[in-house]
Parts: sequence; C-alpha cells; structure tokens
Amino acid sequence: AHSSRLRAVRIVLAAPRGFCAGVTRAIDAVEGALRRFGAPVYVRRPIVHNRVVMRRLEALGAVFVEEVDDVPEGAVLILSAHGVSRDVAFAAHERKLRVFDAICPLVDKVHREVNRHHKEGRHIILIGHSGHPEIDGTLGQLPSGAAEVIATANEVDHLCDRVIRPLAYAVQTTFAVEEARQIVDALKARFPHIVGPQGSDICYATTNRQSAVRAIARDVDAFIIVGESFSSNARRLAEVAEAEGCTNIQLIAGLSDLDFARLDASEAIGITAAASTPAQSVSEVIEGLGRVFDISMQQVGDQEEGVSFRQVALC
Ligand code: SF4
Repeated sequence: AHSSRLRAVRIVLAAPRGFCAGVTRAIDAVEGALRRFGAPVYVRRPIVHNRVVMRRLEALGAVFVEEVDDVPEGAVLILSAHGVSRDVAFAAHERKLRVFDAICPLVDKVHREVNRHHKEGRHIILIGHSGHPEIDGTLGQLPSGAAEVIATANEVDHLCDRVIRPLAYAVQTTFAVEEARQIVDALKARFPHIVGPQGSDICYATTNRQSAVRAIARDVDAFIIVGESFSSNARRLAEVAEAEGCTNIQLIAGLSDLDFARLDASEAIGITAAASTPAQSVSEVIEGLGRVFDISMQQVGDQEEGVSFRQVALC
C-alpha cells in the first residue's frame, strides 16, 4: 500500500557490468595469499581501483603500500592488476620479497606487444592516459624515449616528424573504444605504415561495458555509473553515456554519493558499474532507489561474458 504512493521509475540495468575476470583474479590472489601465508600480505598501490574492495581486503590483513621500499624485507607482496614497470619488478626482487604479480593477462599481452615492437626497431605510440598506473607500467617496459603517450586525435598532428621511422601503436586496455578508433584512424592517415595489434588492445570487459551503456543511454533520462572517479574504466563509461546524449549522469562510488534531487524528474534510470565495482555496491544503489521510487527493473545486453583467467600461482 505504501509503495503505491511512490512515483513509478523504470531502472534499466546494463549487462554486463561490474567485475571483470582480471579484477576477480587479482582479488583472489590477495585472498589466496592471505590464506596461504597469513597476514600481513602487502599490496603495492590499489589492487583494483575500488575502495570497498580495498577496505574489505584490509580487514582480512592486506596492507596497501605506495612503493616496494615500504614493504619489510622478506614479506609477501602482490602487484596490482594494472601491471608494473620493469624497475618496480626489479626493486621487489632486489628487496628479496616473495612477489606475486596479479597483472591482468590482457595488460600483460600489451606489455609483450610493445616489447616486440621495440625489439624490432619501432617507435611506439601508446594511446592512453598519462599518469594512469597501467600506462606507467607499459611505458616502464621500455627504455625512456622508446614510446610516447597520446590521448586525443589532435595530438597525432603534433607528433614530431622525427617519429617518421618504423612505428607501432598500442592502446590502454580501458580506453574509450570510439575515441581509440578515431586516434588510430588519424595515426594511419598520417603514418600509413604504422602497425598495431591484430584485434584490439582494449579488453573485452571495457568493450562490452561500454557497448551496454551505448545501447541504453538513449532510452533513459538519467544514468548512474557505480564506480570510483579515479577508475579509468568507470570514467570512460560516464563519457560514453554523455557521448550518446545523456545529460544527467552521476558517477558515484556508492549509495551515499547518490544525489536523489537530480532524479526528481527522471522516469527511466540507466545503471551500470565499472569493472572494479563489487556487485554489492550496485545492489545498495538499487535498494536505495527502491525506498524512494516504485521501481521496475529491466536488464539490457548480454549477461554472460564467459571469460575467466587461470589463478595467480602462489608458489
Ligand atoms: Fe583486465 Fe580488462 Fe579487467 Fe583491466 S578491465 S583487469 S584489462 S579484463
């Protein structure tokens, strides 16, 4: 009887959303190391870009540190899903840590690609966001000057002519699919001989989550992206919704960030979650909406991705 007084709102859930196989594998590595070696298990930087996940792992005995130097000698160290530079991996081994690398296999694939291009004498254009840990790790596979990072098609015009020698490009796994396509087109137009990956470096999880948002964005008048503002793949999801013409977008870490006032006039609300967002955070947002509106739920997109990676070997 109570709910009949609430305003009806349609919730359109994007599928797939939330955890990808690389994030699941990295979290499993920390949990597995805690079971096997006991606390504390040190983790360099956020294992995945989500504070709910990090707080839960901290409660189990994980200790997050900025640098390898912050880890006591001989301790267990897990490296994050984003991958690390050679210097970081070397420093960890120098310090005689028991190192387990939770780098996503799809980031590792990009590392192998850029290494191959470098060995074969190509200068590398890395399409990605400067300062993101994945880009730091990928650049850190190569000597300085062997690659440069660009994030827009405009920057292609400004690439120096001296880079007109054998060229290759690679892409950050969580980059925006459409923007990457434009940048690659601009690169190919200016440097017809540039070579790139066979398929795409942008991973299946990024691609699928972005296309699910694209499929929904025009059918809703508000979009809620559950994810951290410091998560690259979360920010890209918000940009995709915006590019599709959605003007009412909230990127929130969880229910407590949700601005209900901005949903006052909404009749249909799209919801998705970044690859590093636990399902629980999405459920809490939906429950929160259910207390304020009379919600009906609909899911759009392919639900099953069927991707999983072999666990990080803890021996
Ligand atoms: Fe791997 Fe893609 Fe997940 Fe990153 S978003 S951890 S590249 S599957």
